[in-house]
Amino acid sequence: MRENFTAKTKQILAGRVNYKCSFPGCLNPTIGPSGINEEGITNLGEAAHIYAASIHGPRANPQISKDELSSVKNGIWMCRNHARLIDVDPDAFSAATLRLWKNKAEASALKAIKNGEKDLADCTTLVSLSNNLIFEGFWIDAKENNTWVFSVIRFIYGNIKMLRELSTEVFGHRDVDYFICIESQGDGRLIKNSIDWNLDTNTGFYTITVTLENKENRIFLNDLGADIKLDDDLDLDITNGDFSLISGAELAKQRIQTIIAVNYNSVDSGYPVSFIHKYFNDHKSDKRLLERLVKLDLARLINIPFKNKIRRSCAPALNFINRIIDVEIPSTEIVNNKIPIKLRLEWKDGNYWQDKIDLLF
Ligand SMILES: [Zn+2]
Repeated sequence: MRENFTAKTKQILAGRVNYKCSFPGCLNPTIGPSGINEEGITNLGEAAHIYAASIHGPRANPQISKDELSSVKNGIWMCRNHARLIDVDPDAFSAATLRLWKNKAEASALKAIKNGEKDLADCTTLVSLSNNLIFEGFWIDAKENNTWVFSVIRFIYGNIKMLRELSTEVFGHRDVDYFICIESQGDGRLIKNSIDWNLDTNTGFYTITVTLENKENRIFLNDLGADIKLDDDLDLDITNGDFSLISGAELAKQRIQTIIAVNYNSVDSGYPVSFIHKYFNDHKSDKRLLERLVKLDLARLINIPFKNKIRRSCAPALNFINRIIDVEIPSTEIVNNKIPIKLRLEWKDGNYWQDKIDLLF
């Protein structure tokens, strides 16, 4: 005998999580329009049983009554892939684990409708700990004493061995080589002391805990002063036989373009290196991932101090940007040795700015 959920119970389960998959880090929407007819709905979600619907199923529990087995309490909403995955390996996905996930998914759904937008701390985010250690993770906690906690879902660059090795290193005071950047919020900090990691036996995910230095200072656009205008190829712009000077947002835009042009193959130019060209080469077939990596690298250039040997200064190269909000790459096709990148960001004075910059090849 299978104790299936009623249509109403399924609707409640789905509705309580905004019709999104409850598997950590998935957040896939499970409902949308049907391509076949104008009034149709496609539902790709499933109400999975926490305790199996029948006595021989995954996580079966003979102590539970039939009514309870088909109740809202015993269900968790998931996309089809994850509904299947949790049943294939019921030991790895225990009833306690699924209940924890259900609570988390409902809590983030509640936040999402209250705030009118996705709560950033509940989405997956890319996290970089160095330029060859980047993972996709789930922001678990941000504590008041400058401590961030993440779970690790998958590595984009690097592996768990590298993460463990990094956690055994002793960091110096404000060592610019030890940082953490978070793509979802366009934020980043230097790490204070060390990185702690452990394996969460409930979820099977590694978690890392980092304590942070304070956020780096920002400067106003006016503080950039004035500089010589460059042309589209970042060469000196000599119109009518003379240089011209630019300042403010125009200069800021030129600085961003100049810095992202300094790629990991460049010789020491006195500017920090950008890894955007590398990410482009590695991931141009996955535009969404590429956009997230570009945002992550900009978050590093905005937030992490760079030791400038020529100027003997130590500040983030793009410290006139308060926050990077959004990165969009309309096309990954290189035209005239350029890829346009649409940026949306916030200056220190709180004003927003949006424009297209060119990544030069
Ligand atoms: Zn899913």
